[in-house]
Amino acid sequence: MKMVRLPSGEQVPAFGIGTWRMGDDAATRSEEIATLRLALDLGAKLIDTAEMYGEGRAETLIGEAIHGRRDEAFIVSKVYPHNASRKGAVSACDRSLKRFATDRIDLYLLHWRGSVPLAETMEAFTGLRDAGKIRYFGVSNFDIDDMEELWAVPAGSEIATNQVLYNLSRRGLEWALLPWLRKHHVPVMAYSPVEQGRLLSNRNLIEYGRRHGMAPAQIALAWLLAKEDVIVIPKTGNRTRLRENLGALDRPLTQQQLAELDGLFPAPKGPHSLEML
Ligand code: NAP
Repeated sequence: MKMVRLPSGEQVPAFGIGTWRMGDDAATRSEEIATLRLALDLGAKLIDTAEMYGEGRAETLIGEAIHGRRDEAFIVSKVYPHNASRKGAVSACDRSLKRFATDRIDLYLLHWRGSVPLAETMEAFTGLRDAGKIRYFGVSNFDIDDMEELWAVPAGSEIATNQVLYNLSRRGLEWALLPWLRKHHVPVMAYSPVEQGRLLSNRNLIEYGRRHGMAPAQIALAWLLAKEDVIVIPKTGNRTRLRENLGALDRPLTQQQLAELDGLFPAPKGPHSLEML
């Protein structure tokens, strides 16, 4: 498994699994659990979720999937902005821990910016870390101005990641945010790496895949995995598609293939801000 180094020096898998909309449908539940377990078997041990996903249902499903295997998984969860206060974050974290049936979350993120002052959220996060309830903390959907504000508050620069929308069709962050994160050694966690499935019907990507013998999802993921400091978290609740997605790791793109993709999905040529879903 390709690994990405967190600022602490700990290495985490560059390929994780997203869980948005998992746990919502009884008919797909057992396949989702089997997919999460297969992800652990195959080394994709980073599982991304949030208290928001199904209002806790995704966290409960993960708890079931990792039962007896807690130490194999690296759990990432997110707190709602309206819960990210000094007291609220502690209660929200406790509720998540209960759903996971564990005593710790590996990485706890502020899902997006809300009205609670960043200094207060960081204080809550450091308190949770000191209590051993979370191991690392971070943010999500933070653009460059948010990052600058964060860097000015105590513990703000101790974050382990910024989880953002990033894929071949969403390259706006490359203009300013990505260079900023690199300069400050903050790894990126790329969400919706296949644009929630929409990229996979892109005619250019399908044609490119035909020429290079790769599935569209593999190309989209391999393009992100070519970057040293990017973690991808494609969601699938299906074992066959998980195996297909993991195939991206076996097919690293050459410089020439990357250049060809740049032609098909150009980088921003002027100021761009971060997009979010
Ligand atoms: P995504 O991973 O880009 O796409 C997921 C969709 O693509 C699902 O419908 C999945 O369906 C389908 N899919 C996956 N692999 C496929 C394949 N090989 N062939 C065909 N279809 C495939 O979108 P996402 O779920 O929005 O993003 C990934 C994760 O990022 C989320 O699950 C969540 O954990 C996180 N996220 C975070 C934020 C945030 O604000 N921080 C926002 C959005 C997402 P099947 O399940 O049926 O395979």
